[in-house]
Amino acid sequence: MIILAVNAGSSSLKFTGFEMPSEDVLISGVFERIGIGNSFYTIKLNGEKKKKEVDLPNHKVAFEILIKELIDNKIVESLDEIKGVGHRIVQGGAYFDKTEIATAEVIEKIDELSSLAPLHNPAAIVGIKAAKEVMPKALQTVVFDTAFHQTMKETEYMYAVPYSWYKDYQVRKYGAHGTSHKYVSQRMNEILGRYDTKLITCHIGNGASISAVKNGKCVDTSMGLTPNAGLIMGSRCGDMDATVVTYVMEKTGMSPKEMDTILNKQSGLLGISGVSSDSRDIEEGINSGNERCKLAQDMYVKRIVEYISKYYVLLEGCDAIVFTAGVGENSIMTRKQILDKLGVLGIKVDEEANNVRGIERKITTDDSKIPAYIIPTNEELMIAKDTYSLVLQD
Ligand code: AMP
Repeated sequence: MIILAVNAGSSSLKFTGFEMPSEDVLISGVFERIGIGNSFYTIKLNGEKKKKEVDLPNHKVAFEILIKELIDNKIVESLDEIKGVGHRIVQGGAYFDKTEIATAEVIEKIDELSSLAPLHNPAAIVGIKAAKEVMPKALQTVVFDTAFHQTMKETEYMYAVPYSWYKDYQVRKYGAHGTSHKYVSQRMNEILGRYDTKLITCHIGNGASISAVKNGKCVDTSMGLTPNAGLIMGSRCGDMDATVVTYVMEKTGMSPKEMDTILNKQSGLLGISGVSSDSRDIEEGINSGNERCKLAQDMYVKRIVEYISKYYVLLEGCDAIVFTAGVGENSIMTRKQILDKLGVLGIKVDEEANNVRGIERKITTDDSKIPAYIIPTNEELMIAKDTYSLVLQD
């Protein structure tokens, strides 16, 4: 059977089609500039990549084109072979701790949570509605980025602000990247051959978060009410003294929206270096002697090490550290700097093994007290697997 994993943005629609249960990828791609003109899509199938310019007034048309491509390329004979469509949802609040079928009540709750993810949840609802129209017989499911973190206890998810903020405005930590943390922690357990494990999973991409995972369940994670908490990221500041915000707003007369934009889009590696949010550019800057790139990288690594250290203590030990996402999978330098700083825990990087990009493997020596691994993430597959199991139960 065919399962689609989709991620709808306000003007985009990413998709991957899997044959299940074999997990073979049959088709993948993205529709871009939906509803804003000059739209096009890129598609990968049968080992070929192609780009087509096409009118995309809305997400429904994008799904119709996707179906046509599947039929024209003989991946399916009819629409009925698509048994499930899994939709990525950024914010599931405290309502959802697992993947659900996208019923009207579920969609209503996702909508209710839009104030916590104003750019993402409304766009995902547009995607669900369009998919339902085009594929009425397929089971539509919703896979939440926050669901994996719902096992956190109050002590981990509460903020030390007036309790009424939690009651009245649901202010608490929800985390993000949950589908990725779940995928790599499951994969790590498979590699270790046991499930009673203590793992620290580092999803370090443009956005970045670290989770402490015990026996397959999230104990704590670094992102918060929104993704702008915890680590220093490409252009997000992560943790800092909250008073910095009110202090600078008073000094400059900046509006909350302007401040939010700066903290999310002009901070992090970009803010400190003044060069770029991309870790490749930071590396290049360091190699050519740029002091602010060096400062940005040192702060970036320090913050990651701080989180790994505190999760080591929280978990009372650690069976493996996992690196994933753009930087985690590809930055040889960043991984080495992190693991070197963790030397006090008896961790020893294997420089030769670490000298790779995007490959699943152990990158520490055999006598390292804690092994570290690169595990390329696969959020789409996780979405497809969850959807497939709901289709089987349906
Ligand atoms: P993601 O958000 O997971 O797609 O990660 C994107 C980020 O990964 C980019 O902004 C880069 O900072 C980083 N990245 C990708 N490739 C490399 C590489 N070869 N070396 C260092 N960083 C990389």
